[in-house]
Amino acid sequence: ERFVAFDGVTKTFAGGVHAVRDLNLDIARGEFVTFLGPSGSGKTTSLMMLAGFETPTAGSILLDGRSLDRLPPYHRGIGMVFQSYALFPHMTVAENIAFPLTVRRRPRAEIEDAVRQALDLVQLTAMGGRRPAQLSGGQQQRVALARALVFKPPLVLMDEPLGALDRQLREHMQIEIKHIHARLGVTLVYVTHDQGEALTMSDRIAIFRDGSLQQVGLPGEVYERPLTSFVAQFVGESNQFAGTLRDVTGLVELDGGWRMPATIVHPLAIGARTTVSVRPERIRLSRDDGAAGAVQELIYHGDHLRVVVRTDHGHAVFAKLLAGAVPAWVRDGAAIRVSWDAADARA
Ligand code: ADP
Ligand code: MG
Repeated sequence: ERFVAFDGVTKTFAGGVHAVRDLNLDIARGEFVTFLGPSGSGKTTSLMMLAGFETPTAGSILLDGRSLDRLPPYHRGIGMVFQSYALFPHMTVAENIAFPLTVRRRPRAEIEDAVRQALDLVQLTAMGGRRPAQLSGGQQQRVALARALVFKPPLVLMDEPLGALDRQLREHMQIEIKHIHARLGVTLVYVTHDQGEALTMSDRIAIFRDGSLQQVGLPGEVYERPLTSFVAQFVGESNQFAGTLRDVTGLVELDGGWRMPATIVHPLAIGARTTVSVRPERIRLSRDDGAAGAVQELIYHGDHLRVVVRTDHGHAVFAKLLAGAVPAWVRDGAAIRVSWDAADARA
């Protein structure tokens, strides 16, 4: 079902910046979809076109079967949350939250009731009488959240809403937003450049690069089966090795003369150049099996250990081992061998 549909949406700014190129994406009712990509990849512009603050250069956007082409933002019934909370400083928390209903001229009793519910929802029940300046950053962001939800919009857009919070609070709010989404059943489009946040929160992730969609899929899909080496690199971490395909079975001769198996995910001719991507947790370290090398670096990360192996072919291979699973022979400078399964490498 296409609750939100981007149909061939393109945005070119004056001066020729191609912010969004031919975006085609359907979002189902009730879904939590995240736009993920590096800075400047077109996430905010896509969101702003859906909200109505930017106009597509080409293509159109549908919401619940209606074209949004000529519908101004305030008639779209969309709730929005930004990184900058954009609260009114002279109003109380309750007045800020009430604002979308006040401008819609809802009856006072209905407004009071809705504000109370919204305050409860974001766990600020007793804070209605305060001013934004009397709240912490995290609490202010909750007020912004409550204000976006108070008029019960079927669609809520969030653009890097947790970007200003410290890590612990951010992780807490990620879970809380996810719970609120589940409880209310709203459709949520969430923008972030943080792949961990996208993997944790989303039903589906749409990955942007230079204004183009790279891949759309479940978190597990984009992580386990990235369609491009960009996605493999951007979502999670990945070793990337340039090489040449030698055999239809997926045998790749990596530059430097290291021949390794991979799974071919794009049509590729024998002799074609390609990039092999392997997750660091899929690298196999051994004393007697694989390409010879030496441990160049060991970095302790509490729950896991990062190991960089320099192979005799000249490759730096980055592996990740769980803290409880590090063999004694993985030591700084030790001779070591590296390999991987064809299923864990993508070309
Ligand atoms: P993101 O949110 O992924 O960081 P944006 O959608 O903000 O990316 O920007 C995409 C591209 O469009 C960038 O190159 C940015 O500089 C450009 N851009 C964004 N807004 C404008 C604007 N109002 N005028 C001109 N260029 C813009
Ligand atoms: Mg942005």
